[in-house]
Amino acid sequence: EQEALRCSGCGISLQSEDQGKPGYTPKQAFEREPIICQRCFRIKNYNESSSVTVEQDEFLRLLGQIGGKQALVIHIIDIFDFQGSVISGLQRFIGNNPVLLAVNKIDLLPKVTNWNKVRNWVQKEAKDAGLKVEDVVLCSAKQNSGFDRLLEAVGEYRGDRDVYVVGATNVGKSTLINRLIRDYSDLDQELTVSRYPGTTLDMVHIPLDDGKYIIDTPGIVYPSRYSELVSPQDLGVILPDKPMKPAVYQLNEGQTIFFGGFGRFDFIQGNRQSFTCFVSGRVPLHRTKLEKADELFANHAGELLNPPSKENIAKLPEWTRHEFRITKGNKCDLFISGLGWIKINNDQGAIVAVHVPKGIKVMVRPSII
Ligand code: GDP
Repeated sequence: EQEALRCSGCGISLQSEDQGKPGYTPKQAFEREPIICQRCFRIKNYNESSSVTVEQDEFLRLLGQIGGKQALVIHIIDIFDFQGSVISGLQRFIGNNPVLLAVNKIDLLPKVTNWNKVRNWVQKEAKDAGLKVEDVVLCSAKQNSGFDRLLEAVGEYRGDRDVYVVGATNVGKSTLINRLIRDYSDLDQELTVSRYPGTTLDMVHIPLDDGKYIIDTPGIVYPSRYSELVSPQDLGVILPDKPMKPAVYQLNEGQTIFFGGFGRFDFIQGNRQSFTCFVSGRVPLHRTKLEKADELFANHAGELLNPPSKENIAKLPEWTRHEFRITKGNKCDLFISGLGWIKINNDQGAIVAVHVPKGIKVMVRPSII
C-alpha cells in the first residue's frame, strides 16, 4: 500500500525509513490529504529547502533528464573541496544546456586572497575537468556575498529556461536554493504534480513568478571525500567554519606532519623548504620524524593523535600511502578531498607522500593561492 503512494508535490515514491533519502515522509503525515513528502512540506510551509542525497547511478539518471530539456544549470562547487565536489562529465549528461559555476564557501579562503587569481584558477580547473561554463561566480552563502552577481547571471542566461541546481552533498545547495526561493519564487502557487503535468520525478519544482521553475535536484554522494567518511562529530572538526589561517612549516627531508589522526604528510626527499597547510583550524598539526611516524600512529592514534577518537579511527578504512615526485619549478597543492591541501612552495623539487584512509581522493594540482 505505502509502496504505491507518491508525493503530490514532487511525485516521488514516499518512504518513512530514511530521512536523508528522497521521498521521506514522517508516518503521521500519511494521515493528511494531500500527502506530500517532508522536503515539499518544508518548501511549501517554511520556504525552506532541505537536501536529500542519491548515489551515483541514480544521480546520472537524473542529470540525463536535464539533457532533454531547455535548461540553465547552476553547478555549485565547494572551494574548500573543489576537485572533490566538481561533477566531472556533467556536460555529457546535460546536453548543450548552459552551465553557471557557483563556487561557494569562498569565505573559507584566507582574508588576504587574490580573487582574480582564484577566478582564473577556477576557470582552468573547470576546463581541465571537462566543463564548459558560461560564467564563474565566486560566492559565499554564509556571508551572503556574490549572490547578487549570481542572480544577475541567472537573469542573463536563463531566457525562458527552467533553472536546475546541481551539486554534491554539503556544498551549500540548500542555502542557495533558499535564497533563490526568497528572491524569485511564487509560492502562492501550489506545488502539485496535477497542476504541472510532466513534472520530473525526484526533483522538486519550485515555481518562479514568471511561470518557470527552479528545480532542486538531489545531491550526489561522492565517497571519495573525507567529509563523507567521518562521523558527524569529526565533520565539525575537518570542515573549517571560518577563514583558514595557513600554517607554514619549514621542514627538512625526513620529517612528517600529522593532521590529528586523520592523515599525515611526509617530506621524503629534497632541500629544506617550506610547506603551507590549509586545513581547518580545529585539526591539530603535529610535527615528528618520518622514521618514527608509523610507530607513533600505531601506538597513539586516537590519543596523542586525535581527533578522531580511537573508536572513530577504527571505523575508518585503513590508510594508504600516495607518493608524489614534485618537479622543479612546479608550485602546487597536494590536495586531500575534504581535508584541505598542502601548498608546496618550493621550486627545487621534492618527493612527498600522503597517508589517508583508502578511497579518499588525493592529487597534485596547480596551487590555488
Ligand atoms: P547542501 O548539502 O549542499 O544542501 O548544503 P547545505 O546548504 O546544507 O550546507 C552544508 C554545510 O556547509 C552547512 O554546514 C553549511 O553551514 C555550510 N555552508 C553552506 N554555505 C557556506 C558558505 O558559504 N561558507 C561556509 N563556510 N559554509 C557554508
